[in-house]
Amino acid sequence: MTIHPSATATMHRLALEKKERGEVVYNLAAGDPILTNHPAIIQAAVKASAKGDVPYPPVAGIPELRTLASAWMNENYGANYSKENCLVTCGGKFALFAALQAVLNRGDEVLMIAPYWVSYPEMVKLFGGVPKIIAASEESGWKISAADLRRHISEKSRVLIFNNACNPTGVLYTQEEIREILSVAKEANLFILSDEVYSHLVYENGSFVSLSAFPEISENLILVQSCSKNFGMTGWRVGCAFGPEKWMQRLTALQGQSTTGTALISQWAAVGAFENAPLVTSYVYAAMEKRRACFMESYRALFEKEALAPASALYYFTKLRGSENSAAFCERALCEANVALVPGSAFGMEGYVRFAYSVTEEEIASGMHALHRWIYGN
Ligand code: PLP
Repeated sequence: MTIHPSATATMHRLALEKKERGEVVYNLAAGDPILTNHPAIIQAAVKASAKGDVPYPPVAGIPELRTLASAWMNENYGANYSKENCLVTCGGKFALFAALQAVLNRGDEVLMIAPYWVSYPEMVKLFGGVPKIIAASEESGWKISAADLRRHISEKSRVLIFNNACNPTGVLYTQEEIREILSVAKEANLFILSDEVYSHLVYENGSFVSLSAFPEISENLILVQSCSKNFGMTGWRVGCAFGPEKWMQRLTALQGQSTTGTALISQWAAVGAFENAPLVTSYVYAAMEKRRACFMESYRALFEKEALAPASALYYFTKLRGSENSAAFCERALCEANVALVPGSAFGMEGYVRFAYSVTEEEIASGMHALHRWIYGN
């Protein structure tokens, strides 16, 4: 079967290749919080590697990390997890991958809200599922209602992927909106995959509600978390799946037949992050909040005075003004202005483009000026 590469990864690769050729590139494509790791992470990793022996990890993850990650979910988001409800994975991405592989049967429909994270439809197709897109609109604040969900459910519907805080829009659902959506999902006996990897990157105009705080759906919920964004640890590749023990056992079996688990040193680095979670998350948050402010200042000054800042995550999703399709626009922006962006089409929303503001303020400001010069010629 054909597997389409991730659009974000492709743009990121093209940007890096340009950089390697010695060209200037402003990389506003990758959602990578570029930041020196917090010392707590590095110290924990150095201590673990200094021991000298690095055997295979336990497939489900080291107990210390599973215990800390579960406690973090309970303290921060009102969950009720213990280590048996937690599986450590190679990033949040593999938690999603394994969950879909474990849950789906051929022909099952997977409901997802567009704009969606680029990998969902491709993962679903890999496991014989059928993506069923519920398009949100800018006018509805990029959210769907419980009634929208109900309208899209058929007898083949098996899973709902819910991404809150949302990449690419930064949208956050309220407690009441979530309650209504979950009630429809429960009625239809949907399995829910909740992608919450941006849960701590929530700014002054937002408030985050985790699906783990709704015990009525806990038997049918796998929740995905990650150290990548909240702790600024993308390269370590540490994520977690949380859910009922019986599902965690299935995912562990699947992991045992695939990755064998996450590299041991990475897991100890993540222990360092969780043990110092308030310090690490505030460190990453403070940097990303400044970058978001820098991005919005440039964007408002150069393109749209009244633009509203996104409430969460690392992105700004906006409409293109011309009639050119978004992939062609982004290709030209990279070739002609040296600015890497991701086309809306990759998120299931043609006519839009996504900026990532996770790079340094200098790169953001220079990139925005380069884009402005390219579009307006001054
Ligand atoms: N989910 C969403 C919405 C994302 O944006 C990403 C990464 O960009 C991931 C999951 C996976 O991240 P990781 O595998 O680095 O944890």
